[in-house]
Parts: sequence; structure tokens; C-alpha cells
Amino acid sequence: MILTHKNGASFYQFESLVKFSEIRHGIFTRHFGNSSPPFESLNVSLGLGDADAHVWQNRRAIARAMGIHDLIYAEQVHSEQVLVLNPTMPVSDDGGEGLLGIGDAIVTDSADKLLMIQLADCQSILLYDTHQQVVANIHSGWRGSIRNIAGRTVAVMQRHFQSDPSHLLAGIGPSLGPCCAEFIHYRNEIPEKLWPYKKVGNHFDFWAISRDQLNDAGVPLENIELSNICTFCNTALFFSYRAEGQTGRFASVIGLNG
Ligand SMILES: [Zn+2]
Repeated sequence: MILTHKNGASFYQFESLVKFSEIRHGIFTRHFGNSSPPFESLNVSLGLGDADAHVWQNRRAIARAMGIHDLIYAEQVHSEQVLVLNPTMPVSDDGGEGLLGIGDAIVTDSADKLLMIQLADCQSILLYDTHQQVVANIHSGWRGSIRNIAGRTVAVMQRHFQSDPSHLLAGIGPSLGPCCAEFIHYRNEIPEKLWPYKKVGNHFDFWAISRDQLNDAGVPLENIELSNICTFCNTALFFSYRAEGQTGRFASVIGLNG
């Protein structure tokens, strides 16, 4: 990934996606925000105990850095629910709203909408259809992986936007890596079909699970980029729920240019 500093924010970008001027995207570090410990400092999540005013300031800073005003987000519940943002759907116009609904993936072909996923160890998976001009942002923690929300999102893109999966580019963002994703109770928590992804010490490779789920959905392997950055190992850069307990959520965003 490429680290960029812009307009008082710092964010990572996928090398495969940054080549396309039609889209903007970024995985923001926890730096250069307004929140105080334990949310220091670019926390984008309401309801964690951080001051709402700080969260909104942080979200506006992200929108400013990306140059897209309308920030669209979901109430994330570790489901397999995919939300489609239609061009006709009235959403935020003042940067103060933008809650699309309850779900864990957002898809749109509307320009000037920044799709945001909030993270602290879970994966954000960014998708871009280079032909149909559609973008998606997926929240996939281990529960999302079990429910294959990545594959379901690809299916929604096919159904709603006639996407051909072979035209999709995917980026799997900083998240809990196989170095740290220990599941002591995996026999109860993780279905047996995913046990082949278990490494030594009951550690699971959820990066490989997402890669294979996307590939099974038709996305070519060479179109899938892994950040290979573990949040637990990099709390100086990103929030990690497993490493820190009470902490903030960092932002992953993608949007189509107008
Ligand atoms: Zn790690």
C-alpha cells in the first residue's frame, strides 16, 4: 500500500486502485484527528464514548481530504446485509447525516458519495468495477467472513449493476492478521469448512478466506490486493479492539468522482 498525506490527514491506498482517476479511496490512520484517549485521535464511530462533536469533526476531515462531501455509512452489525445506494435516494446534504441503514456493505454507482466503513480489526474490502463504474465498501469481521458477505456483495453488484466479476478490482485492508487472529474456541465459533485456514496455535488466516471468497465469486486472483497490515501489530497506526479494548474506529472510504 501507499501512504499519502493530504489536507491534514494520512491514509493508505491500494496500488491497484490508485491508478484510476475515476475513483477516490483511502484507509485512514488514527492520526491527525480531534479525539482524546482512548479514542486518539481520528475516531469516526459514534456511540463508543467519544464526544459526538469530535467524531463529526473527524468525519468532515476525511471528507475534506478525499474531496467528496457526502459521507455515507451504515449501522454495522456483522451481518450479511448489503445496502445499495441509489442515485435517486435522498441522503445527506450537510455532512451531518449520511446513515444509509443497518448493514455491513454499501454499493453504489452514484458519483460524489463517499462510502465509509468503520474498523478496529475487522476487514474493509473495497471493490471497484472498472467497466460499469460501481464501487463497494464491505465490513467483514470473522462473523462477516463466516457469512461470506464479500461474495454476497459481488452477487449484488452483478444483480443490480450488471457487474462482471472479472472486471472487479478488490483491496483487502489493514485488519487482524494471521499473526494475531487466535480463535481458541474455533470449534464452536468457526464452521468446519474454514478450518483449512487454521495456522499454528489456533490462528486463522482471514485474509486468505476473503481472497478465496472473492475468487470463488469470480474475481480473478490477480485483481485482489492484500494490504498485509495487521491492526493488532500496528496500534501506533490503527485502532485495534483486540489489542486495546476500549478504543476508536478508523475509516475506510471509497467513492466515484463526479
Ligand atoms: Zn498481528
